[in-house]
Amino acid sequence: MLLATVVETSRRVTETSRRLEKIDLLANLLRQLDAGEVEAVVAYLSGNLLSRRTGIGFATLREAAAPAAEVATLEIGEVERAIEQVSAIEGAGAQRRKRDTLNALMARATRPEQDFLFGLLLGELRQGALEGIMAEALAKAFGADAARVRRAAMLTGDLTRVARLLRESGPAGLDRCGVQLFRPVQPMLAETADGVESALADLGEAALEFKLDGARVQVHRSGGDVMVFSRALNDVTAAVPEVVEAARALPGGDLIVEGEVLSLTAAGRPQPFQITMRRFGRKLDLERMRQELPLTPFWFDLLYAGGQSLLDEPQQRRFRELSDLSAAANLIPHLATGDQSVAAEFLQEALARGHEGIMAKAPAAGYAAGARGQSWLKIKRAHTLDLVILAAEWGHGRRKGFLSNLHLGARDTEKGGFAMLGKTFKGLTDDMLAWQTEQLLKLALGRDDYTVHVEPKLVAEIAFNDIQMSPRYPAGLALRFARVKRYRGDKTPETADTLDTVRALAAHYWPPK
Ligand code: AMP
Repeated sequence: MLLATVVETSRRVTETSRRLEKIDLLANLLRQLDAGEVEAVVAYLSGNLLSRRTGIGFATLREAAAPAAEVATLEIGEVERAIEQVSAIEGAGAQRRKRDTLNALMARATRPEQDFLFGLLLGELRQGALEGIMAEALAKAFGADAARVRRAAMLTGDLTRVARLLRESGPAGLDRCGVQLFRPVQPMLAETADGVESALADLGEAALEFKLDGARVQVHRSGGDVMVFSRALNDVTAAVPEVVEAARALPGGDLIVEGEVLSLTAAGRPQPFQITMRRFGRKLDLERMRQELPLTPFWFDLLYAGGQSLLDEPQQRRFRELSDLSAAANLIPHLATGDQSVAAEFLQEALARGHEGIMAKAPAAGYAAGARGQSWLKIKRAHTLDLVILAAEWGHGRRKGFLSNLHLGARDTEKGGFAMLGKTFKGLTDDMLAWQTEQLLKLALGRDDYTVHVEPKLVAEIAFNDIQMSPRYPAGLALRFARVKRYRGDKTPETADTLDTVRALAAHYWPPK
């Protein structure tokens, strides 16, 4: 296939906002591909390259610029070979040789093709959202069930491979997309819960675990071979020999285990996330780093053992088998309970030991690779602040006609007035929406199409999980996961929380801890 056809499809996919039309456009294109082209095209259309490291930067690309060709003649196969060739160039004069090879490629490309290649090579076309659409398009093009294609993509962690198998064998190709050793599975993700109470209300009896703030690893082991993958599925084996050793020490045969890796201080407290992450930097003096920041893995899941995938097994069974394998020191601290006060105590213990919070997992749930669902809920320390409403935005959909998204401010005792810390429309009941719309309209100072600015009078109790640095707001701070707990009719703006209090809390979050 001509690169021009792919570029044209890419343009049309970007231009339409209709999901079904995007899927149709992609499916039509996919049907026309040769077996040798499908992987590259699926990658390109999501903005990715098949070669992981090309070593091409902006400067090299700019130097490789060439006058555009008049006629589109470049085939996908040729583009792919050129990119492979460039990626393989190393050693003396590498940048010059890369540039020359790229220049030859660019000289064969028309203007739109050059623009596309430029964006592709710089990673500027990368679009996570397109991968979901691409999975649907693959299903449509090759007559497969979309849910099976999505699952295959999550299990193999590689949509291009799924595409090749579909192209080669049709829907039957998906049978070869199960869990495989040394091919990382997309990690299961967690939703945020407001607190212990709501998590247990959702899950009933839950498997609770400490939530450690380190680096997630997925470890594959077969015989003496061990590979460690990061959350983004990159191979980080070389950076983490302790993890490799701990994995080798597990009894049994072939395994895939998952865990969080953390650097602990001599006193056994967790180092802040940023410090642990130094172990994953580039060009490390590994031995020295290992001395300074030794890593400890804490396993929390078992995805493969005894020659079979455990993904569809309930969490309870996966964790039980994991506990049988792992030394206690490397197992995530855990507890099964449906009792609120026991869970609240467990959360306090996790926080007191310097951790981020706890996870509450549904004991009966399978491992939903790549999915963020209700089966894993994260509960972090929740703080509340009494903040003043500065403005509110009109709602959409079901909330149309109501003032919904609230602008929240803390009292600025230095400069006077209030410093905005974020917005939230979460936690509001229908009654609260109706009430606040009425009240805020009475306090209106000015408005545009979206927002009503109000006299700073109403005080609300706002729960949140984190404070982060944010250039967006004048105080440089923003609340994360803010939600309204209730209106504080008993409080006046003069007694609302101050920016100093927020700053003090923020200092508590960031290193030095
Ligand atoms: P978040 O990154 O806030 O969405 O939280 C999910 C992440 O928490 C996972 O990707 C893991 O890296 C990390 N984590 C820490 N402890 C656990 C645990 N016990 N179970 C699962 N994930 C955990």
